Amino acid sequence: MIITKQKKAEDIMKCLEKVERVFIIGCTQCATVCKTGGEDEVRKMKDFLEANGKKVAAAEVWDTPCNLLEVRKRARDSKDELSGSQVLLLMSCGDGAHTVSLGTGMSVVPANDTLFLGQSERAGKFNEVCALCGDCTLFVTGGYCPNALCPKGLQNGPCGGVKDGKCEVSPEIDCGWLLIYNRLRDTGNLDKMKKVLPPKDHSKSVRPRKITVDAVRKRQ
Ligand code: SF4
Ligand code: SF4
Repeated sequence: MIITKQKKAEDIMKCLEKVERVFIIGCTQCATVCKTGGEDEVRKMKDFLEANGKKVAAAEVWDTPCNLLEVRKRARDSKDELSGSQVLLLMSCGDGAHTVSLGTGMSVVPANDTLFLGQSERAGKFNEVCALCGDCTLFVTGGYCPNALCPKGLQNGPCGGVKDGKCEVSPEIDCGWLLIYNRLRDTGNLDKMKKVLPPKDHSKSVRPRKITVDAVRKRQ
């Protein structure tokens, strides 16, 4: 799931400084779960903007604003409201904001900051456990990702800064490499730590990345 957090109200208002009419768009998926763009949040945003002198042409929660075909269809359905707006306020992730701008040809203002790909631990609590590197090595690190769990992204064991099991970069977080060691030990796989991994192949994560599922399947 893509994790987002809502920007501060004053920052949103700064982006809307010279704007009179706004169309608010939320998202039924990740942003609803993160409480940054569901029905409730969109309604509160509408009330807030109106209380601050803005005209809200429409306030809707779209299904998958990150889906270009879906966006084009919604744009056709909401043609009048869109043409009556100066900008679209996107209560989604950055992917949704970009896709809606592309699909409507309109300016967007993001109401949210997009943070990371998150594991849902329980309602409202998310953890970053994968950094989307494009070259997964979890089979040698016991299912714990050094790219996500070690702030230095070390690939072959811990630095010398571990203190009481915590990371030297932040005492708030467990040392990722200690987690990896413990998991490998508990599953009888400690020998994997003796293997030196090659440097990370960052060519697999050069941005912007694109993929066509059928083309990949044909190569396999
Ligand atoms: S190694 Fe880590 S960052 Fe890379 S794909 Fe696997 S879990 Fe994600
Ligand atoms: S203390 Fe552990 S998690 Fe922190 S930077 Fe060093 S190896 Fe990585």
